[in-house]
Order: sequence, then C-alpha cells, then structure tokens
Amino acid sequence: MLKIVTFGDKLLTQKSELITDITKETINLINEMFDTMYYNNGIGLAAVQVGQLINLFVVDVPDHGKYVMINPKIADKSLEKQIYEEGCLSIPGIGNEVERPANILVEFTDEKGKNKKIEASGLLSTCIQHEYDHLEGILFVDRLNPEDKLKKISEYRKMHIV
Ligand code: ZN
Repeated sequence: MLKIVTFGDKLLTQKSELITDITKETINLINEMFDTMYYNNGIGLAAVQVGQLINLFVVDVPDHGKYVMINPKIADKSLEKQIYEEGCLSIPGIGNEVERPANILVEFTDEKGKNKKIEASGLLSTCIQHEYDHLEGILFVDRLNPEDKLKKISEYRKMHIV
C-alpha cells in the first residue's frame, strides 16, 4: 500500500508535470494507486497524493466507470452546475458540498498510450474535476468560500493535531 500525502504537505499545492513516457514503473504505480484507493474506500486518487508530481490520476465511480487518466485536459464544461458532498483521502475526516460544472468533456491518454475523449456527468464529472484539481495543486477546500475553508481547515487541525 502506498502512503497518502496529507493536508499541510507542500506537495499538494504544486503543479504536476506532464508524462512523456508510459513505462513499466508508470504501470506499477497505476496498479498500486488503484489498490491504495480501494483500500481507503476512495473513488479517485491522483499521483501527487502518493508523492509523485506527475499528471496522472485514477478514478472508479460505481456504475459510472473506471478510468486511468494520463495528461488529462478538460476541453469543455457546461454552464449548468451541480453540487456534491466531497471528501479527499488527503484530508481525512473532512467533507463539504462543492459546486462544479455538471458536465465536462475530458481528453486524456490511457495506460496503453491511447488518446481518448469522454463526456462525464453526475458524480463521475465531479470526481474527475476533483482529481484534475489535484494536478493543478488545488484542493476541494480551495473551492469553498473563504469562511467555509477556514472552518474546515480548523476542523481538520483539531481532528489531527493534538
Ligand atoms: Zn482529493
């Protein structure tokens, strides 16, 4: 199992780098990321969350699909918004509603090196946007209004720092 980088670590605020080659190590990392995600009951995990600043995340949203997304790009997003309660394996114990575009068009490379394009809606759309944010160094608490963000961060600190 891979160790998950948690809130407060500077890595989580940094941008991930593009992946130029899909190597055996990349494939091993992907498999370990799925194992780590399932073990922690997550539906998405970005490479930076296991300490690798590379443009890769995995998602598996029940009934919506399982994807490996390398160098993803959100090519289009709807004006229509939706709200889901979000959590993050890097901010354990904390959750909040987040508003995001309801539908997105995402382009990415899969683990076999194939270029793909999918439309996502519902929870899959939110999950992909949450993971995509990780690649940009953005956490879901950064998407909240400043007051709620402070509240959630102090809640987290109280919970995890004695
Ligand atoms: Zn997250």
